[in-house]
Amino acid sequence: MNKQNYREILLTYTKKAYENKLFAGTSGNLSIYDDENDCIYITPSSIPYENMTCEDMVVITMDGTVLEGKHQPSSEWKLHTNIYKERKEIKAVVHTHSPYATTFAVANMPIPMILVEMLPSIGDTVQVAGFALPGDEKVGIEAVKALEGRKGCLLKNHGAVAIGEEIESAYITAVYIEDAARIYYLASTVGTVGEIPEEQLEIFRQRMK
Ligand SMILES: [Zn+2]
Repeated sequence: MNKQNYREILLTYTKKAYENKLFAGTSGNLSIYDDENDCIYITPSSIPYENMTCEDMVVITMDGTVLEGKHQPSSEWKLHTNIYKERKEIKAVVHTHSPYATTFAVANMPIPMILVEMLPSIGDTVQVAGFALPGDEKVGIEAVKALEGRKGCLLKNHGAVAIGEEIESAYITAVYIEDAARIYYLASTVGTVGEIPEEQLEIFRQRMK
C-alpha cells in the first residue's frame, strides 16, 4: 500500500467511527501500522473530525518521532505503538469512547460472551484494563494485558480498544464491542442476561480454527 492509500483508508474509517458516534468531540484515535517501513499512520491530536483530511494524518516512528505531518500525533500514540510492539499480527488499532462500552469501563465490568458475533470479532469476554492516566505509557501496557488472546478490551474509566489485522476488522470489532455493551444493558432492563454456554463456545472455537 502506498502512502496516500494509508492516509485515505485511515481517514475513511476515522470518519465512519465519528459518524457512528464511537467517539465525540476530538476524542478517540485510530492508526494503521506500515510494516514495510516500521512506522504508523495515526490520527492527529485535537483536530475536529468534520473537516479532517488525508493531509491531517500524522506518520510517526515507533518511538513517536514525527516523520510526516503538520500536526501533533494523537496524545495516545504510545497506546498504539505498544500494541504493535507486543502483538506482531496486529496492523490496526481503533480507540473509541463509545457510550455503552465506556459505561462498562466506568463500572469496571467486563462484557461477557452474550452475542454470537463476539466470538469471531473479539474472541472472548471483553476485559477491563487497569486504570492509567491518558497519554501515559501505562495505558498501552495495561491494554496489552487485557487484550491477551482477544481483539478488544475496555480501558477503565476511559473507553474501548479494538485491534485487527487490517483497519476494517478493527473497526468492526469496535462496533461489536459497543453493540454487545448496549445489548447487555438493554437485556438487563427486561430480564436476566444469559451468556452463551461455555461448551457451545468451545464447539464454535474449534470450527473457527
Ligand atoms: Zn481515549
